[in-house]
Amino acid sequence: MALIVQKYGGTSVGSPDRIKNLARRVARFKALGHQIVVVVSAMSGETNRLITLAKEIMPEPDPRELDVMVATGEQVTIGLTAMALMELGLKAKSYTGSQVRIVTDNAHTKARILRIDEERIRADLNAGYVVVVAGFQGVDEGGNITTLGRGGSDTTGVALAAALKADECQIYTDVDGVYTTDPRVVPEARRLKSITFEEMLELASQGSKVLQIRAVEFAGKYKVKLRVLSSFEEDGEGTLITFEDPENKDSIMEQPIISGIAFNRDEAKLMVLGVPDKPGIAYQILGPVADAKIDVDMIIQNMGADGSTDFTFTVHKNDMAKALSILNQVQAHIGAREIVGDDKIAKVSIVGVGMRSHVGIASQMFRTLAEEGINIQMISTSEIKIAVVIDEKYMELAVRVLHKAFELEEA
Ligand code: ADP
Ligand code: ASP
Ligand code: MG
Repeated sequence: MALIVQKYGGTSVGSPDRIKNLARRVARFKALGHQIVVVVSAMSGETNRLITLAKEIMPEPDPRELDVMVATGEQVTIGLTAMALMELGLKAKSYTGSQVRIVTDNAHTKARILRIDEERIRADLNAGYVVVVAGFQGVDEGGNITTLGRGGSDTTGVALAAALKADECQIYTDVDGVYTTDPRVVPEARRLKSITFEEMLELASQGSKVLQIRAVEFAGKYKVKLRVLSSFEEDGEGTLITFEDPENKDSIMEQPIISGIAFNRDEAKLMVLGVPDKPGIAYQILGPVADAKIDVDMIIQNMGADGSTDFTFTVHKNDMAKALSILNQVQAHIGAREIVGDDKIAKVSIVGVGMRSHVGIASQMFRTLAEEGINIQMISTSEIKIAVVIDEKYMELAVRVLHKAFELEEA
């Protein structure tokens, strides 16, 4: 007997039939003697609908009130899921995040899970219930409803698996595993049987939305056995997230050099041009940006021949207007010639642990892009990742040619 947490995403609970299908899968696992906790997202499109609705009332919705209303999406699906399980003769009980007491910090719309009171769930499991928990939501110490950021139901699933010391956390979605890149952009993309936790972390952080980054972080921290699977297939092994054994160098050497390609259009670029090149400039530019709680991703600074420098960085597109107004306020003080914002950019990243032991990967990436006439605006690297910022209109082309150049397609 195993304790399994199964998380079902929006498409997988998108209609009554899909929910019934989910219930039949749970019943099969239950019949094998396993204890099952089900985590569900809102029905597909519902979270977007609720956010749009909120913006019709308040263009920049109050974060606390937004959380109160977007959390209702998942509250609908837990009730429906528990009923579908009951219809199959199973004992089932649903809980919202705050009923479980998934306690988070108070950062509304992007809260972090601090702890989970798992005793009640455990007691229900021992009494033979399937426990159904709302993904994406929690409650802060003050009793306020919080949400965990878009895609946050993945994190609920993994965090529950960690708290319950589950044998496995299964993420059921609309693709049958983690692919070398988004199969909707590159049809030749190949499913990976397994991927290391570190690579998955990089792919998620670079924009591959198949798993929310915090879910991967949780899995790494608590060594949760995590698998991504299709909710539309009866069986299929999906993709297992594995933990590299640093002692076992051979297994690392056998890995392909590049495992996957991620991309996103979520960032905007801000350029502070013609700044005097003197100590303290980076701080004078980024200090006020950080004070406004705007996250900065890539940063570059290049020296001009005339002793002035250009300073460029990226932020989330949602923060571009705010960042621009902050920069305009400090422009005179720092003596910048011009401030320019550009949200027509995309970031494309290649990821693979094999980069540690192979040279020439960056040059191969840059040559491939150059051959297509794609200009690279910014570059950043880590031990297992190379990311470039390019013009948004070349994003899909870049992903496709890199996918081919690194021979990631179906063998
Ligand atoms: P869910 O609602 O089940 O959480 P998501 O839409 O959040 O589903 O995530 C699944 C989607 O992630 C897929 O439909 C696919 O388009 C996208 N995706 C992006 N990168 C990858 C990848 N490397 N492998 C598989 N899917 C990916
Ligand atoms: N329903 C939430 C969203 O759309 C959470 C999730 O699906 O994981 O972002
Ligand atoms: Mg998701």
